[in-house]
Amino acid sequence: MRELLPAGVGVQGQRGIAFVIAGPSGAGKSSVIAGLLARDPRLVFCPSVTTRPPRPQEVHGRDYYFLSEAQFDELLAQGALLEWAEYQGHRYGTLKGEVLQHLAQGRDVLLNKEVRGATAIKRAGLGYPVVLVFVIPPTWEELVRRVRGRGTEDEAALAERLRIAQTELARIPEFDYLVVNDELSAAVARVEAIIQAERLRIARCGSA
Ligand code: ADP
Ligand code: 5GP
Repeated sequence: MRELLPAGVGVQGQRGIAFVIAGPSGAGKSSVIAGLLARDPRLVFCPSVTTRPPRPQEVHGRDYYFLSEAQFDELLAQGALLEWAEYQGHRYGTLKGEVLQHLAQGRDVLLNKEVRGATAIKRAGLGYPVVLVFVIPPTWEELVRRVRGRGTEDEAALAERLRIAQTELARIPEFDYLVVNDELSAAVARVEAIIQAERLRIARCGSA
């Protein structure tokens, strides 16, 4: 068959892309990710490791890898984490090996990170494209309603999460895309549109 494209040019769809979903606690990151996974079998979610205790509905290996402080220290000593951050007294980190394995197999990876982790992944020089998506609720009042409605934090922890949210919102300019999660299915469709567009970007051999 005659080659149509010039040498060294393809589309991103043949290479794995890392989509980092960030945004304040309660914005709906986990909900959006669950919606995306249900609709696109090419996407895979890489759970973070964390020392935070599991919430009632959370499953080890699906939502997070729940580790002891010693197990987390061990991963750090091994250099197994692409980045890590402390959030509300617990540590959270990204398993480098798992992310790279999926990307090398041409799968697109979804990651759920706070803002410092998201930008660190972009800077890490993974060798694959990294797309930063910031999810926000339609209003501040709705953010408060959602994080309270989830019922997973006491009032002190909730207040602290809202304080962190303000500093995170200030860093929106460092992101590639901004998605308002007003109605969940609409927000999922917006992120799907981003994923489709990124897969169609022109890729040049050797560049990430
Ligand atoms: P995050 O992962 O960003 O902390 P979650 O996905 O856990 O946020 O969502 C926080 C709460 O808000 C959950 O109770 C979830 O069911 C709810 N939620 C998420 N998206 C929406 C939406 N579009 N409309 C109303 N409630 C939502
Ligand atoms: P939660 O306790 O609500 O699950 O998560 C708290 C915050 O930690 C969220 O903003 C979430 O995106 C972030 N987070 C989860 N995993 C990681 C990770 O591996 N690295 C970083 N930097 N943040 C993470």
